[in-house]
Amino acid sequence: MAFEGLTERLQNAISKLRRKGKVSEADVKEVMREIRLALLEADVNFKVVKDFVKTVRTRAVGAEVLESLTPAQQIVKIVNEELVKVMGQEASPLNKSPKIPTIIMMVGLQGAGKTTTAGKLALKLKEEQHARPLLIAADVYRPAAVDQLKILGQNIDVPVFEMGTDVNPVEIVRQGLALGKEKKNDYIIIDTAGRLQIDERLMNELAQIKELSQPNEILLTVDAMTGQNAVEVADGFNSQLDVTGVVLTKLDGDTRGGAALSIRAVTGKPIKFIGQGEKMTDLDVFYPDRMASRILGMGDMLTLIEKAQKDFDEKKAAEMAAKMRENSFDFNDFLDQMEQVQNMGPLEDIIKMIPGMANNPALKNMNVDPKDIERTKAIVYSMTPAERENPDLLNPSRRRRIAAGCGRPIQEVNRMIKQFKQMREMMKKMSNGNFAGMEGLLGN
Ligand code: GDP
Repeated sequence: MAFEGLTERLQNAISKLRRKGKVSEADVKEVMREIRLALLEADVNFKVVKDFVKTVRTRAVGAEVLESLTPAQQIVKIVNEELVKVMGQEASPLNKSPKIPTIIMMVGLQGAGKTTTAGKLALKLKEEQHARPLLIAADVYRPAAVDQLKILGQNIDVPVFEMGTDVNPVEIVRQGLALGKEKKNDYIIIDTAGRLQIDERLMNELAQIKELSQPNEILLTVDAMTGQNAVEVADGFNSQLDVTGVVLTKLDGDTRGGAALSIRAVTGKPIKFIGQGEKMTDLDVFYPDRMASRILGMGDMLTLIEKAQKDFDEKKAAEMAAKMRENSFDFNDFLDQMEQVQNMGPLEDIIKMIPGMANNPALKNMNVDPKDIERTKAIVYSMTPAERENPDLLNPSRRRRIAAGCGRPIQEVNRMIKQFKQMREMMKKMSNGNFAGMEGLLGN
């Protein structure tokens, strides 16, 4: 998960302020020093850090913070706003041609994830816009890139135009575009060749493809795990090809996060998508505000809700919300939720999107064992229908019977029931819009 170190350091810096009723200019200076170090350690571009710290400091020594009764919260607010700004303020949608086809040219160095992203993007367009994309395999240099795209295309059921690896890529693109136009594909995604580093021949070839295809979008894929190198690469490609957007891949493996925070400021070009895994569905729109929340350890409820909506039955979700409000959420609902959550992806990633959870020490290095969910489910399965509907029935003798029924220790059964009750209480509060008591979770 990205930003682990940064989140922790920012939270530590700010939590020192939290203990003070009133802060002085010297306190602000000290916090800013720590924020600066945290950003540099996260491999954020030097100049970006300098400008960021300067802006935050200027705002923070203003009256709005020094005279505030909640200075730490004010600083969190400023840092949050400035992080959002550095990353581009708002999500940048994919450019679209007024008439079909929209042409997207994928560029990037070898290994950055260009071919994979081309496939992910085709799938996204297909699923979200019911589009009929065509992929063109014009990466004839990387061994197996053409075959890789062909296989991806088969898996996601998107046609791939290819002419093997012995034909000039510009010619492949010419013929691919003609085919796409003939077949009335609404999107044409061109997978171009990469190199190990930027060189003149590559740039010439890409310039020719750009000239020929007149793309609406030139998407540069860069590997987040390479940190500042990714930023340099982005700068290099952009100065030669004038890209329209960046896809930051492998954010799932990047624990520092410097590239995400630097690319926009250094190149002036927006990050449009982020890759967060190897699966074809692991491509998400980049939202600067959600990313800032994640960096500050405030969770990313919106993405969580969206993920949930994708997999959840909406009617069920509405019923569930009503039950939370009325405090009639029972063990049957709990079972349902566990099953839905199991469909959503690795639990440790999901939990970190919940506000306050990203840096919860109890979750540090957490590895959620899918067996834990199975054990919890086994406990619920050992309850009678009446007990599932009315958790208050669960007296000690019933608990002993349940423990014997599912073969788990009584302590585990007790703990689970206690946690269930706490969760129910919290749900009731949250669904009534009462977040009091939650704010303590932020940054402490
Ligand atoms: P290309 O040379 O730029 O076309 O790179 P590929 O598309 O072949 O990707 C190189 C490797 O990175 C492959 O093993 C991909 O599965 C992997 N990859 C691509 N995007 C992501 C991502 O967002 N997360 C992770 N973990 N791996 C990725």
